[in-house]
Amino acid sequence: MNGLGTSQLPLRVAIIGAGPSGFFTAAALLRAEPQTEIALFDRMPVPYGLVRYGVAPDHQEIKRITKTFARTAEAASVAFHGNLHVGRNVSLEELQRCFDVVILATGAEGERPLGIPGANLPGVYSANAFVGWYNAHPQFADLAPDLSCKTAVLIGNGNVAVDVARVLLSSPSRLACTDISSRALEHLRRNCIREVIILGRRSPAQASFTHAEVKELFSLDGVATVLDPTDFLFDEEDRVEAWHHPDPRHRQMIEDFLHLTTTSVPSAPRCLRFRFLRSPTEVRGTGHAQELLVSRNKLEGRAFERRTVATGDTESIPCGLVVACVGFQGEPLPSIPVDPNTGAFQHDAGRVRVSGAPWLYATGWCKTGPRGLVGSSKKESSETVATLLSDLPRIVPAPERTTHMLLMRQKKEGIKIFTFHDWRNLDQIEQARGRAAGKLREKIPSVPEMHLLAEQCSQQQ
Ligand SMILES: Cc1cc2nc3c(=O)[nH]c(=O)nc-3n(C[C@H](O)[C@H](O)[C@H](O)COP(=O)(O)OP(=O)(O)OC[C@H]3O[C@@H](n4cnc5c(N)ncnc54)[C@H](O)[C@@H]3O)c2cc1C
Repeated sequence: MNGLGTSQLPLRVAIIGAGPSGFFTAAALLRAEPQTEIALFDRMPVPYGLVRYGVAPDHQEIKRITKTFARTAEAASVAFHGNLHVGRNVSLEELQRCFDVVILATGAEGERPLGIPGANLPGVYSANAFVGWYNAHPQFADLAPDLSCKTAVLIGNGNVAVDVARVLLSSPSRLACTDISSRALEHLRRNCIREVIILGRRSPAQASFTHAEVKELFSLDGVATVLDPTDFLFDEEDRVEAWHHPDPRHRQMIEDFLHLTTTSVPSAPRCLRFRFLRSPTEVRGTGHAQELLVSRNKLEGRAFERRTVATGDTESIPCGLVVACVGFQGEPLPSIPVDPNTGAFQHDAGRVRVSGAPWLYATGWCKTGPRGLVGSSKKESSETVATLLSDLPRIVPAPERTTHMLLMRQKKEGIKIFTFHDWRNLDQIEQARGRAAGKLREKIPSVPEMHLLAEQCSQQQ
């Protein structure tokens, strides 16, 4: 026995990433192994990962989970260290010298490329950038996408495309009282887009949308939803796939789509069109996206093994905005590669499969790949914690049992480490700015401003 996890030798755990999976894992560890010291590191000065910078502003109910995360962060044995990019400001090896165990909770921040000619034309955006823009992510807050065209095409059949469609099709008044970036809201007030097309390679049976999200889209005020029956060839294999999908709500979603193809379309100021069985092949335009070329597909193979085959038919969709919602993937860390097939670190029940880095674990999207809602991270973080605890008797205590030197070095290099107390101050400011503007929150859209405000608050206190 190594004595770890006792009051004489608390288990020291570094969690890299203060998104939902980082917090769920910290909470599970505290419940299971009270003699633990946990440090949560994040590359952003502020916590909560995609709950803050991904989840759409009109999905406030899911953001309430941050209240639970805050309680975890304020537990006596937990410390938050924001603005520390592991792999850049501090290495994994340094952390492994200070902590008995390191848990990667870095999400899936890389984006799968669109990979077609014209993908770099102005007017073509990645989902990361577009979503980050309306969520006031410091990297994208100034994006100001061109919304002067009539038609936008969103490529991809997951919930991210659904979020972007909702933001583009909602009346600004629907979003005004949320935590949407004010700059984005003002920009959306001048939105000329009247038609949003969601494009998918396969059919709804294979789509990654969830029923609740799609239903929300169908019920947007002033929006007619259109699905041409020739775009939805629901054959026997599709039927098997829809009816035997692991999520029973998927079948309900397919029924809604089937219903949509037979309903007459009411006239409305804005239109949402689903185009299935289409692959983008090229974005064309002179100096700006003007049309998207797509090829038509048919599906071959049996249910759950269906693959797309181009029919040879092509068409052009005139549009001025293209958003690639084609999926995310984990970002590798120096010496820890990401499996290109899953977009995640390779692991066995949460134990990262890599030589020379013992007691390294993964949780959340960097473990599962970019799928699942916030709640799913809770279940799978329990698995990672169970694996860690089963390893506990064999874990070799780290040689340096303090982060003091590591944090001092950052300070000397001019890097401000944000504490959870700093976040509490910024949180108060954001809420006060929100109240003044008649909304829930006005997020601080720049890291230098976060620095300045955090400094001012600590001088006043
Ligand atoms: C656009 C979008 C909308 C979504 N909407 C919903 C929704 O409405 N409802 C819902 O339930 N789920 C939604 N989800 C899914 C949900 O956001 C994820 O399930 C969840 O955030 C995954 O949690 P995570 O902790 O694994 O990753 P993340 O939330 O991405 O957290 C990872 C954290 O790690 C940090 N990090 C990364 N690399 C480093 C590094 N090298 N050093 C230090 N820190 C690092 C990041 O800054 C980030 O804070 C949405 C996802 C997206 C992309």
